[in-house]
Amino acid sequence: MLAGSTGQNSGVSSMTVSVASVPVHVHWSVLLVVLILVPQIELRPAIGWTAGFLLAVVLHELGHALLAKRFGASQVQISLMMFGGVTTFIPTGIGHGKRFLISAAGSAIGIAVGGPLYWAERFGSLSIPPGDLQNIARGFVLSAFFWGVFNWLPMLPLDGGHMLVHALALKINPGTAHTIARAVSIVSAAGAVFAAQVYFPDSSFLTIFVVIIAAQGIFSPNPYRIPPPRERLEHPPRNDDPLSGIGGTMSDR
Ligand SMILES: [Zn+2]
Repeated sequence: MLAGSTGQNSGVSSMTVSVASVPVHVHWSVLLVVLILVPQIELRPAIGWTAGFLLAVVLHELGHALLAKRFGASQVQISLMMFGGVTTFIPTGIGHGKRFLISAAGSAIGIAVGGPLYWAERFGSLSIPPGDLQNIARGFVLSAFFWGVFNWLPMLPLDGGHMLVHALALKINPGTAHTIARAVSIVSAAGAVFAAQVYFPDSSFLTIFVVIIAAQGIFSPNPYRIPPPRERLEHPPRNDDPLSGIGGTMSDR
């Protein structure tokens, strides 16, 4: 995917809008969600669910972006692409305590908004008649709430993995913190795969999904390890900090 360098996303494949003063780059691949839903439901409900999903992704990323801005980060921007989003910024002078809060803020806002709506709908105090609005609302609520919770799993590159790195880095060397978080990620991924097998024994989709996400985190380079000078010249380090989105699709490349 992308690590969100400024300007790299412009062009015919994406468009940029501004939401709450944060530039949001929208890549055409967000529309692939509709194609994935269409075999399960009809086209019109699929479009509604996708719209709800994208609203939830934007809300989640705004949680990261607005807190990062408040803490003084520069070049804060959001990119939306297939199955999720990523918030990038330059965290100059922002300590690990605040970085922890920025990582936590995406799911926090999603759960705070999506959670009550989920329970209200489930237990009857909120009833939306079947139709487009219901599809958008359900897509939004399920994405905001359940993906919000999933994103807090201590598994890189999910937000929970970044939260673990920053929490550990308050006490120990960040490079070591990242290595420990990668080891924890393997355990979390194994637990998530086990849970997927127990609760959804007939579907391999969740298992494949978890394995792909976990592989991204486990095999990505440690951003806190300073490379030897020669390598540093060939691969200048990035300052931006990709925070995984709802779909967890991101990389440090
Ligand atoms: Zn996030």
